[in-house]
Amino acid sequence: RAQGDGRSCVRFFEPEMDMHVERRIEIERELRSAITADIIEPHYQPFVSLKSNCIIGFEALARWENRTFGHIPPDLFIPIAEETGLINALGNQLLRRACFDANTWPEMFTLAFNISPIQLRDPALGQRILSILGQTGFSPSRLEIEITESAFVEKTGVAKTVMDELRQAGVRIALDDFGTGYATLSQLLSFRLDKIKIDRSFVSHLDDSTDSQVIVRAILGIANGFGLTATAEGVEDAGQLAYLVANGCAEGQGSLFSDAVPAAGIPALLSREPGRTAVEEMRQDVKS
Ligand code: C2E
Ligand code: MG
Ligand code: MG
Ligand code: MG
Repeated sequence: RAQGDGRSCVRFFEPEMDMHVERRIEIERELRSAITADIIEPHYQPFVSLKSNCIIGFEALARWENRTFGHIPPDLFIPIAEETGLINALGNQLLRRACFDANTWPEMFTLAFNISPIQLRDPALGQRILSILGQTGFSPSRLEIEITESAFVEKTGVAKTVMDELRQAGVRIALDDFGTGYATLSQLLSFRLDKIKIDRSFVSHLDDSTDSQVIVRAILGIANGFGLTATAEGVEDAGQLAYLVANGCAEGQGSLFSDAVPAAGIPALLSREPGRTAVEEMRQDVKS
């Protein structure tokens, strides 16, 4: 990633850390006060059954509007929260808020919630999640936690115990961003999973890359063979949707259906049923 100033330089930081140290420290300070003030809030993106054409749940995605920096994306602040250990307080706060919001939805809707691999190093995580569910009165059977592959590589003893504890209480476990991490298939399969989410980097190239088509079909085969639900992430157009439906993908999520909306936007979304519309239109396209 050339800077265009003609000088070469050695980069010591990962892309998400590639910012001035002072700015990073400033964001860390802002993050601490945002957590204290409970300013970071979950927005919700629907995921849709590609069989029934209906919304089946919503994924909570953290949103932070900062008075100095404006909108700060989670890909920037979640890694900072992870490195500083703030992710535990932030995660608890967001889950409490998400359960509170999800309690107002019709009962058939699932709440999907992202858990960082850093949070999974804490043996008390399972009990903390269950106690937040108890306090908010949200049923464990309506919660699905999303975990990325890195949680399956290191310190897997603790992660396994926590996941087993949650699963025993009725919480479902989804593997997020599948295909982009370092875990081997045997590491992944040694955990009991309910769902695989196909990373959007594969979905977004379905129309122009046969490699992506092969990978998506292979992932669907693995999911099917192990009795796991498959969800395609980042579905943006009707061509991608048609491919996924034709190859038996169970669920889809992406801007074609809806981007994440604030809690107050959910009633309007439900009356519009964007999933139904998009899938029905696609089926009509295929027929004609
Ligand atoms: P993720 O869990 O894989 O979430 C999906 C991301 O894809 C979201 O980005 C979502 O807005 C985006 N997305 C969904 N559909 C489309 C689409 O059709 N096209 C495109 N281009 N993007 C789409 P977002 O909200 O920026 O979140 C990024 C990541 O930050 C998440 O990836 C997740 O790993 C993390 N994250 C977000 N909220 C939380 C949270 O509350 N806790 C934790 N631990 N991580 C979170
Ligand atoms: Mg996710
Ligand atoms: Mg993902
Ligand atoms: Mg991601």
